[in-house]
Amino acid sequence: MIQDLHNHTYMSYDGVETPDTLIDNAIRSGIDIIGITDHQFTDSFDFDTYIKTLQLAKKRYKDKCSVKIGLEIGTRPKPDNFLAKTSSGLLDYCLFESLDSERGMDLYEFLEWRKLFSCPTGLAHTDIFALSERYGVDIFKILRENDIFWEINISGNYSYYYDFLSNPKKRKAVSESGITISIGSDTHRIYEFNKSKLISANELAETLGNRIIFVKGW
Ligand SMILES: [Zn+2]
Repeated sequence: MIQDLHNHTYMSYDGVETPDTLIDNAIRSGIDIIGITDHQFTDSFDFDTYIKTLQLAKKRYKDKCSVKIGLEIGTRPKPDNFLAKTSSGLLDYCLFESLDSERGMDLYEFLEWRKLFSCPTGLAHTDIFALSERYGVDIFKILRENDIFWEINISGNYSYYYDFLSNPKKRKAVSESGITISIGSDTHRIYEFNKSKLISANELAETLGNRIIFVKGW
């Protein structure tokens, strides 16, 4: 089972593709589960239209590919509580970004706020090792106890990914941690999509032996 749970459409300020373009590409590439995760934080983003558009796409493709409705939620600054209330029951999952940034939401504040979301939640392209050091905490324990998954983001824009690939200690630590993992290409334009990199990351996640979100039972 190949998954790609991080993709952007024209409904993100920095995306251009239609959901159909992304999903057709996923089908051609042998991806079983594709998640759309547009950015929520610009004024032009319309949550209702977003959900309706993706619900229709999900229906249209239901026999060919499992389409998940996600959202990538920025934490610089903390979003309004309104978002959590509105999205409940409509999202299959959401990704939080920038917790590892200096301007990101405080980790403890985030852990409280995240409870407002009833869907599965994960950390997009987050250097959890840096977070662990910054707060002096066992980040694996925190992720496990708060039911938060961790994304392996293959876009190449985040150094934690290369560091993770080249550091056997970190891979061993994640493998033994029992945390849940997701894999995302973070595609904003279809020409950026790298099929072999995505497949390798899916294989790596499986080798690590962690639970991979949305594989079993989906
Ligand atoms: Zn993204």
